[in-house]
Order: sequence, then structure tokens, then C-alpha cells
Amino acid sequence: MQRELILLAFFFFLYGIIIGSFVNVCIYRIPKHENIAVTRSHCMSCGHQLAWYDLFPLFSYLFLRGKCRYCGVKLSKQYPLVEFINGVGYVWIFGVCGIGSTCIFYCLTFSALVALSVIDWRTFEIPVGINLFIGAMGIGETIFDCLNNQDQLKEALADHLIGMICVSLFLYLLYVLTKGRGIGGGDVKLMAAAGLLLGWQKIILALVLGCVIGSIVHIVRMKLSGQKHVLAFGPYLSVGIFITMLYGQNMIDWYLGLFAPVQ
Ligand SMILES: [Zn+2]
Repeated sequence: MQRELILLAFFFFLYGIIIGSFVNVCIYRIPKHENIAVTRSHCMSCGHQLAWYDLFPLFSYLFLRGKCRYCGVKLSKQYPLVEFINGVGYVWIFGVCGIGSTCIFYCLTFSALVALSVIDWRTFEIPVGINLFIGAMGIGETIFDCLNNQDQLKEALADHLIGMICVSLFLYLLYVLTKGRGIGGGDVKLMAAAGLLLGWQKIILALVLGCVIGSIVHIVRMKLSGQKHVLAFGPYLSVGIFITMLYGQNMIDWYLGLFAPVQ
């Protein structure tokens, strides 16, 4: 049993770094509106098309010691970093959720969160295609949740549908009131898509976590650099969503337990 678990975890890591190399492709191409599927990967510096053995995630970078095989230019550390983070995330989600439909939907959502975080950090925009992808994961999770809880079908369905609107509607009002300066339209759509995936309690928790983590990091960054930074909210919301996917239910149970009558 132990050995099977380790083997499965290793499989999830491999799967994670392979999807992670596709996440890298998305991070570079989506903001430039390049096709993410058709054109083959090439070196950013010399334009040389990369062979399949140059594209093997993580290991190619380590083997080539971070340089392009053809022109010797240093490759961005972002490639192996994104692949590694994606691999670790997959193993982590598998470890907490166990194998099943939720695990798969959460893993793919995690990859989308990694992609949108880097893109939002750089461009202050969350591509609509990534939010749509997370929305599709939300639809999948809602369908499976309803199939698994047929005796409580209405409750399960309501949980996800309310999740889709409860936080996003609140953020949309902020968006309208601040004329888009307080929060971006991409953040609103992200929380609608993630809310459908997570349900209403968890998406509220994700928002709270995102705001707390975002404020702390933002204050530290301003103290360190002495400058005003424009805050990209997407990465912090993503961290909040990720923590909630893993430990949200435990945190909500603990919180609600505070109000339970003492026996
Ligand atoms: Zn090159």
C-alpha cells in the first residue's frame, strides 16, 4: 500500500511537471495572443526550434545547466520554477484529496492559477481564456458533486451556484463603485469561476485568505522598496483559492465549531 502511494505520488509529480511545461507556454504566448497549440517551441534568443529532448520538463533545464543548446544564452529560471511548482502542487493536492474527480479538477485548476498569477503579476491582466477554463473545471466539479450526492441534489447544486455569485457579485459592486481602480474585471470573473468550483463557504474563505495574504505581502514590499506598487490581486486570490482547495473544509469546520454549544 505504502509503495503504491509513493508510486502514485511520483506519477502525479511527473504529470505535474509535464503540464507545467505547457503552463510555461501559456504564460509566454497568451499575453502576446500567439497560438498555444500549433507553433512549436523555440529559443527566445536565437529562434532555434527546440527538439523533443530539449523540452522534457525540469530535467532538460538541469541537464543543459540552464543554457540554450544552440546559442548558449541563459534560459529564464521561470521555466524550471513553474514546472517544479506545478509538480509539487499536483502531489500536494493528491496527498490531501486522494485520487478522484475532485483531485483532477483541482490539479488542472491549480495549473490555471499558476499561469494567471504569473501573467497578472507581469501584465496586470488575467486572460479571459484562463478564467473560462477554471469555469469549465467548476462545471465539471458541480456535475460530479451532484452525481455523488443524489439524495441531496438540490443542496449540492445550490452550494456551487451560490458560490459562483456570492463573492463575484460583491467584487463586481466594488469594481463598479471604484470604476475599476480598486479591483480588476479579471478578478471578478476569477472568483465567479472558482466559486462555482469550490462552493459558497470555501470561496468566501478564499477571498478572506487572499485579502489577508495580499495585504501583508503588499505592506512588506512597500516597506522594503519604499515605493508604491500597483497591486496585482490575481496571485493572492490564487494562493487563497489553493489553500482553500487543500484545507478549506478543515478551516470552515474549525471556525463553525467555535459557535457550537459546549457539551
Ligand atoms: Zn538559443
